[in-house]
Amino acid sequence: MSEKREDPILVTRSLLPPLEEYVEMLKPIWDSAWLTNMGTYHEEFKRQLKSYLMAPNLELFVNGHMALELAIQAMELEGEVITTPFSFSSTAHAIVRNGLTPVFCDINPEDYTLDVDMLEDLITDRTCAIVPVHVYGNLCDVERIETIAESHGLKVIYDAAHTFGEELDGKGVGRWGDASMFSFHATKVFNSIEGGAVTFRDPKLEERLYQLKNFGITGYESVEHVGANGKMNEFQAAMGLCNLRYVEEAIGRRRSLVMRYRSRLDGIEGIRLCRENPRVRYNYAYMPVVFDGYGATRDEIFQVLKEHNIHVRKYFYPCINDYACYRDRYRKEETPVAARISGQVLTLPLYPELPTEVVDEVCQVIREAGRG
Ligand SMILES: *Cc1c(COP(=O)(O)O)cnc(C)c1O
Repeated sequence: MSEKREDPILVTRSLLPPLEEYVEMLKPIWDSAWLTNMGTYHEEFKRQLKSYLMAPNLELFVNGHMALELAIQAMELEGEVITTPFSFSSTAHAIVRNGLTPVFCDINPEDYTLDVDMLEDLITDRTCAIVPVHVYGNLCDVERIETIAESHGLKVIYDAAHTFGEELDGKGVGRWGDASMFSFHATKVFNSIEGGAVTFRDPKLEERLYQLKNFGITGYESVEHVGANGKMNEFQAAMGLCNLRYVEEAIGRRRSLVMRYRSRLDGIEGIRLCRENPRVRYNYAYMPVVFDGYGATRDEIFQVLKEHNIHVRKYFYPCINDYACYRDRYRKEETPVAARISGQVLTLPLYPELPTEVVDEVCQVIREAGRG
């Protein structure tokens, strides 16, 4: 049996550039004393990101949540928004905080994104938009979603928080839908400490997004919108610019760790891994594993790993429609697949510096736990 390890292994570890590189970036900030409000680094980061993400248009934000909330606000919607309960809290909160009503669509059991077969049945005359999530970096069926949205005149705003740098047929994922939100939170594949961006199709949205992240101010003496403070500051942009130099290397390392996990776990009865779509260039953001008819339950595996000082995550558990703040209006039974997967899934430790031996160790503990 494998022993408890001395030093804890956490599920993730933030990507950091060499300290000297970041410190070097700070000098111009001190020289100019320009700390925030769309400074030089903000503009440079925006330019480089637009190119890296192959986005037609892009606006930066202080974090991913604010980016999503303001992207939805910019669409000027009213009524119901179809979304998934299998996501991070931010997705539904961004809808509700815009005065809109989420309608939860179940997910498909293959890649945990929206079950597009169920989508049309949920569309009513009050539906105004769809907010799908590219869960764990698995792309939604963007083509079918586009067809459905077009035929019903609905906006599509993707929560693309997990898909930084991903491509479909060689094109940046941000070109799908009316808008996509990317998160640069410390725990994501790429970070600017906190940060986010919205990529969008219609260039006319640029001015509106800019105004909304700056209190709705539209001129020296005019405020035309009820905006928020969603501005990214220069320290965040500097971190983003530094990390952008290392993100390809980080994704490469993540990829080889995911391949290692797969080689150790694939084919074990009761363990399900996501299949890869050959049209997609992945970023390997997460290592989700579903335990379905395995020798131990998800919660047992979670506990055994914890006893070995390996800390994994029940991501996403609970489902959003089972949160205390939404439970009075929704029931998790309405989305049975999401409810089931949420009770069976774990995301395993994954970050560029994770030693390959630790991947082997995690898999060994999982195998032993399954033998009971
Ligand atoms: C991280 C995340 C967000 C929110 O992004 P922040 O930058 O942390 O505000 C939203 N949706 C999903 C699916 C996420 O994983």
